[in-house]
Amino acid sequence: MQRPLLLTGFMATGKTTVARRVAEATGRPWVDLDQRVEERAGKTIAALFADEGESAFRARERAELTQLLQRWRDEFSQAPVVSLGGGALLQREVRLEAIEAAVVVTLTASPAEIVRRVEADSGAPRPLLGSARGAAAEARVRELLEAREIAYRECHGQVSTEGREVSGIQEEVLGHWERDAVAVAAGAASYVVEIGADRLGSRLAPLVGRCSSALLVTDTTVGGLYGERARAALDTLGVPVAEVALEPGEQHKNLRGLEQIYARAFEANLDRGSALVGLGGGVVTDMTGFAAATWMRGVRWVGAPTTLLAMVDASVGGKTGVDFRSAKNSVGAFWQPAGVLCDVTTLRTEEQRAYGSALAEVVKTALIGDPALFELLERESEGILRREPELVREVVERCVRVKAHVVARDEREGGLRAVLNLGHTVGHGLEAAGDFTLLTHGEAVSLGLVAALRIGRRLGQTPAELEARCMALLAKLALPHRLDQGALDDAARLVGHDKKRAGKALRFVVARDVGAVDTHMLSLDELVTHTRSVADP
Ligand code: NAD
Repeated sequence: MQRPLLLTGFMATGKTTVARRVAEATGRPWVDLDQRVEERAGKTIAALFADEGESAFRARERAELTQLLQRWRDEFSQAPVVSLGGGALLQREVRLEAIEAAVVVTLTASPAEIVRRVEADSGAPRPLLGSARGAAAEARVRELLEAREIAYRECHGQVSTEGREVSGIQEEVLGHWERDAVAVAAGAASYVVEIGADRLGSRLAPLVGRCSSALLVTDTTVGGLYGERARAALDTLGVPVAEVALEPGEQHKNLRGLEQIYARAFEANLDRGSALVGLGGGVVTDMTGFAAATWMRGVRWVGAPTTLLAMVDASVGGKTGVDFRSAKNSVGAFWQPAGVLCDVTTLRTEEQRAYGSALAEVVKTALIGDPALFELLERESEGILRREPELVREVVERCVRVKAHVVARDEREGGLRAVLNLGHTVGHGLEAAGDFTLLTHGEAVSLGLVAALRIGRRLGQTPAELEARCMALLAKLALPHRLDQGALDDAARLVGHDKKRAGKALRFVVARDVGAVDTHMLSLDELVTHTRSVADP
């Protein structure tokens, strides 16, 4: 429990009571944010609302929360439990900051129960309800809850406090805190990514949750290694569980493979309440997600990625799909999973070349948004190559956090998400030039990163020291980093053939520092010229 626990939720959902109980049970400090605001202002919340209005109160609340999230270590030796006011996380940017710095749990209760509790506690002023009572109050609560639905969904978990013993509530909240998952904010479709060792047996079923039946989708390789563990876990759901094992590999990521999933779903009578579970690498993850997006116009799905690439990249962001003829991922949909489980123990059996080349995506991710991850890679390259479990867990978690940060701010690839393409423009060209067989995707990205750094230097954006530092890191991680003139000429030709983009400017991602990337507009012709000119001497 390294991050603070924030309890949010509508008025009278039990935030203060539960926070106090969790703090007592764990011996952690307890902070009530409203109380802090009152102390600093020297007035009660009701007086602040009356004198300054709601927006001034929210500004004070935000400042107090930001300070607490950034500076709690100055005050406490261990992460505290914090109860928030019901409106503290309504502004999205505040909410995103909170779910990144803390574990956020929303307490819930029905409108009728909320009104019952409010009326029983006549002492506490409730400015949002005014003088409304009974049915009018309930209608007002329902209206406010609808308006706040997304704000209360973008968190690590929701816990009902209605008709339950406090001890059960406390235990459920504590479970969220202990798991310390990464919350991916995607509006009503928000979810968590849990990362840890030996989790398949214990955590798969809780992430799938209530469903009428389940379909486990895997490939024959992964099914042989981990299928039994996953099946045993899913059996605890107490619903019928069917299974389909696809042929492994990208060449089966197509409509025929998809049809196998639909056929099994049909035979097993999967309905709107069923859930799909994808156990495998990026191919199985993408196909399961797309099958879930389209079966009965959309059912729940959970990803259990088993390759490093699938954990650090395919598991987050909701992009699903299959290849059509030579066009990769051309048939697809955005469809968020209900949850993702990265059991890093499964990476032990991943083939070395696949594991090693996925580290290129890890380097890219560190460059985009995590200087501490970059330093970890520099310091612990050998342990990471040996797949030491705690190091691998940290690497996966840091990557998932960076990707979650980016996609939360750009779910549908409108802007910020473009930075995830760092190293991919020339990388794709090199991958295609090798007919998708000479280089793995990760190896092509590694070379693409070198090209992007050198193009960045030509554009006056990337300092020489950054290029040198990245080259040294790629070498330490045994990733390819020598750019051959012939391969670059082929890649440039393929990049230049992209008729869709001819004459248009494209947003090329450049690195200015570790954790500081930007886009730079380039014409296709400029890109081709630069690509040809960055070979090793
Ligand atoms: P993959 O899924 O084909 O897996 C590679 C091979 O490893 C397969 O043969 C598989 O059977 C085997 N394997 C998987 N897990 C294993 C394990 N734990 N032990 C032993 N063998 C194991 O390839 P990949 O590299 O995981 O994923 C590539 C795919 O991911 C591509 O299709 C790509 O488009 C997709 N992808 C999607 C996204 C996204 O955002 N949706 C992001 C990145 C990549």
